[in-house]
Amino acid sequence: MSLIVQKYGGTSLGSLERIEEVAKKVIGWHERGHQIMVVVSAMSGETDRLVKLARGITFRPNPRELDVLLATGEQVTMALLCIALEKRGCTARSYTGGQVRILTDSSFNKARIRDIQMDAIRSDLDTGLIVVVAGFQGVDEEGNITTLGRGGSDTTGVALAAALKAKECQIYTDVDGIYTTDPRVVPDARRLNRITFEEMLEMASLGSKVLQIRSVEFAGKHNVPLRVLSTFKEGPGTLITFEEELVSEPMEKVLISGIAFNRDEAKITILGVPDRPGIAFNILGPISDANIEVDMIIQNVGRDNTADFTFTVHRNDYERTLEILREHTSRMGAREVSGDNKIAKLSLVGIGMRSHAGVASQMFQALAKEMINIRMITTSEIKISVVVDEKYLELGVRALHEAFDLAKSS
Ligand code: ASP
Ligand code: MG
Repeated sequence: MSLIVQKYGGTSLGSLERIEEVAKKVIGWHERGHQIMVVVSAMSGETDRLVKLARGITFRPNPRELDVLLATGEQVTMALLCIALEKRGCTARSYTGGQVRILTDSSFNKARIRDIQMDAIRSDLDTGLIVVVAGFQGVDEEGNITTLGRGGSDTTGVALAAALKAKECQIYTDVDGIYTTDPRVVPDARRLNRITFEEMLEMASLGSKVLQIRSVEFAGKHNVPLRVLSTFKEGPGTLITFEEELVSEPMEKVLISGIAFNRDEAKITILGVPDRPGIAFNILGPISDANIEVDMIIQNVGRDNTADFTFTVHRNDYERTLEILREHTSRMGAREVSGDNKIAKLSLVGIGMRSHAGVASQMFQALAKEMINIRMITTSEIKISVVVDEKYLELGVRALHEAFDLAKSS
């Protein structure tokens, strides 16, 4: 008999009918002999509604009181699910985060879990009860109710699975897994059976729509296999797991797992800075002082002892970054500062790259065939990213999906 933690999202619990469907699903797993702990989100839209209520009074509600309010959404679904389970002859018991004793720090609205004490729950599970826990919430040392940040029920699920050493943490949602890329861009994108934690984190720009990324990090760190699957459609979903497990199944060995992309970046170029020590620091120092995060960085040295420096920032920080650099242009001895915020980043992700040469050139060839100009390139062990003009984003993603044969299961 194995213990499984199942987390159901807001859409899966969005109405009484859906809650009853979830109850049936949970009972199915229980009848197959598993110990089941369920973690619930609030009904879809409920947390937004609660935030709006508080903001109807003041734009800056007291953070402690906001958490008292927000934590009620999950308390509704946990009780309704237990009522639906009991109606079907199943013994179930619900717990708030505080009743379990999910201990967090005191950062209201974005608390971090410190410890979980759950002797009561363990004995419930051992006597065959289905335990339902409210996601997204805990208590601090003083007993104040805290919440874990939007999307935080995923993290509750993973943390409980880790503490209970569950066989698997299943995240039930409205999509049936993680795809090779966004199916809205590439209609024949394929659901992955498995992906490693490392790859999943690199694919964050795609995956974060499905999973709170913090929960993926947490699961990787605490060795909890995570499975993303649909509440509404039967299927195996996508298992997010460890590389060792993939290696033991040679059939699963793949070169590229997926293509991530985002349009959130902007590119800044500083031309003709003197090529001497301290230049990168002179340029990036004021940027980091302004708390602006820099992503890709490239420096080229020209023949006349000057260097050109290009980097990317979040698109929201574009104007501010240009402003700061223009203030410093003469001090840096630069000839010109320019920028472009109509760019997009495409990334090819796959652990297979580590042991395989030629992926980069195959990628560049596929883009060249479509006459897509590459503006910047960076690589890491399991990822190659390029910056292209935003208007080529979809074309680029499709070309790469095709070139690496991602629609076909390997
Ligand atoms: N109900 C919370 C939210 O909407 C937490 C969650 O669903 O994970 O953010
Ligand atoms: Mg969610």
